Amino acid sequence: MSVATETIRLTIDGREIEVPAGSTIWEAARTAGVEIPVLCHDPRLQPVGVCRVCLVDVGENKLAASCVREASDGMNVTTRNEKIDACRKGLVELLLSDYPADAESGSKTHRDELLALAAEYGVEWPPAADGGDARTGQVAGIPSGNGRPIDRSSPVIRVDHQACILCDRCIRACDDVQVNAVIGRTGKGYATRIGFDLDVPMGVSTCVACGECEKVCPTGALSLVQLVDELMTTAAPKPRSELKQVDSVCPYCGVGCAITYHVDEEQNRVVFADGRASPVNHERLCVKGRYGFDYAHHPQRLTVPLIRRDSAYPKGPLSPEVEQSDSKKRKRPGGLVDYEHVLPHFREATWEEAIELAGRRLREIKDEHGSSAMAGFGSAKCSNEEAYLFQKMIRAGFGTNNIDHCTRLCHASSVAALLEGIGSGAVTNVFGDVANAEVALITGSNTTANHPVAATFMKQAVREGKTKIILVEPRRIDMADHAEMFVQLRPGTDVAFYNAVMNVLIEEDLVDHEFISNRTKDFESLKSLVARYDPEMVAEICGVPADDIRRVARLFGEAKTAMVFWGMGISQSVHGTDNARCLIALMMMTGNVGKPGTGLHPLRGQNNVQGASDAGLIPIMYPDYQKVGDPEVRAKFEAAWGVELDPNPGLTVVEIMGAALAGDIKGMYMMGENPFLSDPNLNKIRKALANLDFLVVQDIFLTETAEFADIILPATTKLEKIGTYTNTDRRVQVGRKALQPPGSAREDWKIISELSTACGYPMSYASSSDVFDEMTALSPSYAGLTHENLGLTGKLWPCPDLETDGTQVLFGDTFPTPVGLGRFVPAEFTPAAEPPDEEYPFVLNTGRLLEHWHTGTMTRRSRALHAIAPDARIDIHPDDLAALGARDGDQVNVASRRGSITLMAQASERLIPGSVFIPFHFREAAANVLTYDALDPYGKIPGFKFCAVRVETAGHSPRRAEPPGK
Ligand code: SF4
Repeated sequence: MSVATETIRLTIDGREIEVPAGSTIWEAARTAGVEIPVLCHDPRLQPVGVCRVCLVDVGENKLAASCVREASDGMNVTTRNEKIDACRKGLVELLLSDYPADAESGSKTHRDELLALAAEYGVEWPPAADGGDARTGQVAGIPSGNGRPIDRSSPVIRVDHQACILCDRCIRACDDVQVNAVIGRTGKGYATRIGFDLDVPMGVSTCVACGECEKVCPTGALSLVQLVDELMTTAAPKPRSELKQVDSVCPYCGVGCAITYHVDEEQNRVVFADGRASPVNHERLCVKGRYGFDYAHHPQRLTVPLIRRDSAYPKGPLSPEVEQSDSKKRKRPGGLVDYEHVLPHFREATWEEAIELAGRRLREIKDEHGSSAMAGFGSAKCSNEEAYLFQKMIRAGFGTNNIDHCTRLCHASSVAALLEGIGSGAVTNVFGDVANAEVALITGSNTTANHPVAATFMKQAVREGKTKIILVEPRRIDMADHAEMFVQLRPGTDVAFYNAVMNVLIEEDLVDHEFISNRTKDFESLKSLVARYDPEMVAEICGVPADDIRRVARLFGEAKTAMVFWGMGISQSVHGTDNARCLIALMMMTGNVGKPGTGLHPLRGQNNVQGASDAGLIPIMYPDYQKVGDPEVRAKFEAAWGVELDPNPGLTVVEIMGAALAGDIKGMYMMGENPFLSDPNLNKIRKALANLDFLVVQDIFLTETAEFADIILPATTKLEKIGTYTNTDRRVQVGRKALQPPGSAREDWKIISELSTACGYPMSYASSSDVFDEMTALSPSYAGLTHENLGLTGKLWPCPDLETDGTQVLFGDTFPTPVGLGRFVPAEFTPAAEPPDEEYPFVLNTGRLLEHWHTGTMTRRSRALHAIAPDARIDIHPDDLAALGARDGDQVNVASRRGSITLMAQASERLIPGSVFIPFHFREAAANVLTYDALDPYGKIPGFKFCAVRVETAGHSPRRAEPPGK
């Protein structure tokens, strides 16, 4: 807990050591390798010294609590002797006096530090011989319970108040680490207990189930429901000491939290997960990382290759005649995945047969229709190695640049604006740098839901008084509670708003003249454009009072250091590039680029969005953003890959689907993508997928897209392979293998190699690390990185000195543009392409929930995540709901010009009246049936965040979803 430049010397158990001045005795002992037991403390928390089991002898007439007592120069500490042991034993006996011993306190096997201490200090447990109750362990004559029942209201965390020793670790973890402030103390005397919010059950409180409290609880009072359930059955998991620890990385969002999976190797399953010490997450996790691992064990995993058949197909291998038949007749557009309905259309095959058939059909299509009839969708869920190999196969094997992935649907517009403005699509500063920023502008990002652990650093910086947050959002999201200023603007008016902010900055001379003249160009053109955006005029457009626009400008302009974080609320718009241009201009005109506590940070969505783009899953770029149109660059890749490459830029995600619908794209290879749910205007996607001549899908589950496949290849989850992943900070980390793949599922890099070989472009690699070495040799930003030197915490690219952690802050002196200067690109406000009207009066915004990820393929198959958020809901303002004659919980129909869905209404005052919000994870109420596929002209990203819809009542019978496959 201490920061010091001076050191002191002291003796601990006869050993002289030197530690920073200000260290506690407990910290000093750890430095010397001496572990002093403690129940109420965790190195990440402020010590409070309430449990007293860390008592040590410092030569005074009473023992000292080492977790709070500061070490001093010359101090002589004894950490264990007869007196200390007797004290500790007495304390443990007291703490155990009403401690329950029934089976429901089962997660003790994994978290229980109190029972471990009892064993170490010879305390008999349970004390049945003492006349106590053998079931509860309660000592006769000592009251137990006292209004402290087990709280089973949360589907994830069980609270056994009787096992709680009131050490307050959970309270401090919730307050200080995750900054959620849900847990406190309630009651008086012996009835004192921990409480949630205003003393409501945990399951109905504002708890977000991050599990930080469960992780730090030393007694099992807070424990994982799933583990407890298992302990109540015969399938009890092994104790912690018998589990294997595998250090890996979370498979969900771009934060890239470091995780340790605790694995039962015999049963080939993860028992539980913990956050790891890392610069990324400081051991923190969110609900998805901590509890969302069990999708890997789900019974619906694909385990063998599958080949489409229909009644016309004979059993056994397909005959060439049948293969030539028109596959379009065999595939009907429509329907959602129902294993029982879909699987009969496929038959199991060997890998040899599936690869041979897939290779042959793809080759035939290419030979007959040319390379431009081929395309591939990679995935930002896969590793860098897999992304690199996949784009190599499409480019070198298929001979086309028609290769893209979901970044197109995420930050393509941000990257387009960044490349144009500062010559690089990478974040300039890591998110943890927020603690050095006087002001953080967060815009278009529901950070606590979409990047939860990054959000904890932002909230912590506010809590510690280091940073003020300006939040600019159309919805009143949770981050508003931590913001100095919350600006609720009308959807789709960002460009007008930021132009007005820049207008004020210039008018009030809050710009950095030196930075503008030394580091940038074209300021005058921006200045003349924003001069027209005076706050009064813009207030009419965006619904934000002119005075608030001025306040934002002053708060931002007067800060010595400021960062901007943005998410898909900025980028997923047909004006996404213009939105990002404004943010880049804002940062450059105030000189907030190139130093600590400043910078541009588009928060990346998927776990490997950054890496998949770095690896070249982009139609206009080879790995490391080397342009396919540059003859010199192309020659370099042709030499490396030994084949002539297509000089023409390829099509993007939405363009590829359009070309498939038009019949121009005929053969596709899809790795880990599910465009059926993730792309806009799903009815069009259905038809496009059905229109393909041949589709190979490689995935871990039978996705909605796989339903249209001719061949399905069973792939591996992140838990079943080794590979590297690059997080939103540019940190390249190694994800390690924790489990064996089910059945004959194979690692993706192996499948790509085999299919490429079958398509006529041979590939041969010995390991994933071989692939990484080839990629880094062709990618200057990754130069020198290897699986080995990335170690446990990874490195930030670029990493010119491999002894260091890599580069925290980019562009301190110059930008990687042709002349080294940043460029201001003015953006004019234009109204939304599909504004609300009489027929479709609401503005629809789509996005994610905290508990789910993208198309829900993984998270909806996770028991805990599904239990918390089982079904789709539409958030709608209560006034709008009342005007419709509907109530909270009613079913409503939502229709746009492209289709309609039915789902449950949820009254929410977070929204501006006239706007609604639907998460896009739920196939039974797929939000993207409604969205439209108009594209941003630069980033080619669709406008997921804005389209006009109509909402009508559909009945008063709320339903809850069953978990898929259960
Ligand atoms: Fe995983 Fe993101 Fe949650 Fe971290 S914040 S645990 S990376 S989902």
